[in-house]
Amino acid sequence: MKTSPLIFDSVRFTRGDFLLDVDVRFREGELTVILGPSGCGKTTLLDLAAGFLRPSGGSILEGERDVTLWPPDKRKVGVVFQDHALFPHLNVKDNVSYGPKVRGANKVRAGIIADGYLEMTHMTKYASRMPSSLSGGERQRVALARSLAIKPDILLLDEPFSSLDAALRRTLRNDVRQIQEQTGITAILVTHDQDEALALADELAVMRQGRIIQMGKSGKLWKNPADLFTALFLGRTTRLSVHRILSVIAGELMVETAAGTVRMEIEDTRPVLPSTLVIRPEDLIVTQNGTLSGQVTKTEYAGGHWKIRLEVGDGTDMIDCNIHDTVPPAIGDLLSLDIRPGSARILPGTVTEHLETR
Ligand code: ATP
Repeated sequence: MKTSPLIFDSVRFTRGDFLLDVDVRFREGELTVILGPSGCGKTTLLDLAAGFLRPSGGSILEGERDVTLWPPDKRKVGVVFQDHALFPHLNVKDNVSYGPKVRGANKVRAGIIADGYLEMTHMTKYASRMPSSLSGGERQRVALARSLAIKPDILLLDEPFSSLDAALRRTLRNDVRQIQEQTGITAILVTHDQDEALALADELAVMRQGRIIQMGKSGKLWKNPADLFTALFLGRTTRLSVHRILSVIAGELMVETAAGTVRMEIEDTRPVLPSTLVIRPEDLIVTQNGTLSGQVTKTEYAGGHWKIRLEVGDGTDMIDCNIHDTVPPAIGDLLSLDIRPGSARILPGTVTEHLETR
């Protein structure tokens, strides 16, 4: 399958108070996941990419082609929506062969193309079934086969698993990942599910209030979030407000938090207050007389380890860590923790303001 990058060159789109302002290159042959809270503009971005909406400024390019003003049917884009929009009066195979037929393939050729994509999506045995007789997951597989059958250069997936239960979501997202790798298509998947985004993405783009805040490999965003919003939105993290900057000497910073005094290396400028200290759970180690301490308020088994939450100070501060023991600590126990060197980050802002302005 031919692939192209999809480029948003200073694309702007306004709707009432909402402004989307995006400058990004979705790389050819990669799966980019766009993650962001409800209303941040994820679907709007896909609608612009598909040609359902027209930008008020900037250009959209599919490889070399400037498609900014092209209608959806002229673009080489396949779309899978959250609500499996299949033709209800056509059986599965006819749903999939419809696109190739409209684009000029004869019945036999369109049937061969459909068979190929039904096999790829494990739907061959359902070829003659009507959409109404399929489960949600099966319908999404047909929707995927149908969008691939037009041999698009770019595949757009808008929350394709959101109506499915957890186990089915996992199976289907593994299949999508495999199909994307097999076809080498440039794909953009939108979700507000952090675990899904981290698990699937070649490139992860975090979106907020109409803008892409940070884009990169999942691991990089997880460990080095660009701002406090991204740190909190990506998933579990310790968040401790910095009460005082005690010293900055030769690249070493010492700050006071409600859970203890933390010493860490810093590369660039002195942090400003208010700031928040963030540390991922896997970077905290339970020990005697550690740097941080707090009281256990929550324990949750996660298969192989316990997710532990400790309360610190007034309640907006908290420590999230993992414990690999068979038995969790009791609620109310005092735990002491060390921070893996180089893993703590200080980010401007407070947790409260970031949660309020999502
Ligand atoms: P969700 O995760 O809830 O689907 P989203 O990130 O996909 O959200 P969009 O659907 O792109 O967000 O919406 C972006 C903004 O545009 C929101 O403020 C939304 O209220 C607004 N919006 C979306 N569709 C319309 C519409 N048809 N008319 C007016 N405003 C709209």
